[in-house]
Amino acid sequence: MTIQERLEAVRAQIPPHVQLVAVSKTMPEADLMVAYEAGQRVFGENKAQELSRKSENLPADIQWHFIGHLQTNKVKYIASSVRMIESVDSLKLLKEIDKQAAKSDRKIDCLLQFHIAEEDTKFGLDRAEATDLLTDPTFKTLQNIRVCGVMGMATFTDDAVQIRREFRFLKAIFDWLKNDYFSNDASFKEISMGMSGDFPIAIEEGATIVRVGSLIFGERHYNKS
Ligand SMILES: *Cc1c(COP(=O)(O)O)cnc(C)c1O
Repeated sequence: MTIQERLEAVRAQIPPHVQLVAVSKTMPEADLMVAYEAGQRVFGENKAQELSRKSENLPADIQWHFIGHLQTNKVKYIASSVRMIESVDSLKLLKEIDKQAAKSDRKIDCLLQFHIAEEDTKFGLDRAEATDLLTDPTFKTLQNIRVCGVMGMATFTDDAVQIRREFRFLKAIFDWLKNDYFSNDASFKEISMGMSGDFPIAIEEGATIVRVGSLIFGERHYNKS
């Protein structure tokens, strides 16, 4: 199947209220352009310099989501071009995003990434860390970021019951935060969960954003860098 056919097959499984992020990390710009020509406008990358380079070379109406672990010293590379940073896991990072967004005279949408998998290899906040972040007096002073919701990755497993339980947990975290911290904030509405192997379950459990890569672009090759 071509990229266009794969993209259409994925889209057919996604209801209109759910946003599809086409995860294009490691993929050549020509492949992104094929998806672009087929109407895709939201792309996900997990390396700051790669997102920066692709955003310079590709059409300006692409919305770039950053979905990987982000070091504070790399925020400057993406601040002018990124639409949403889905992987915020510390106040330190949020402060740096705010600072760099101010320099670019813009507001950057952010999601708080939570650790929901049983594996301890995945990044993300737990509930106590999120509470500390949201109650820190500095948080309220950040004018150039907008916290729009939560993101999480389920365990890499074939066990659909476990995956569903982890997505349900992220939805519960979203509901808790919405109720306790963002009840008057209409922009806090996103739950980003679900990848190639598990996005249909994520949608059933309340995802508003799914991040699908290999099902659209094929297997990734990590031979460079
Ligand atoms: C790579 C990646 C994806 C997409 O993974 P696929 O299994 O290729 O769909 C989604 N989310 C994050 C955070 C990723 O790093």
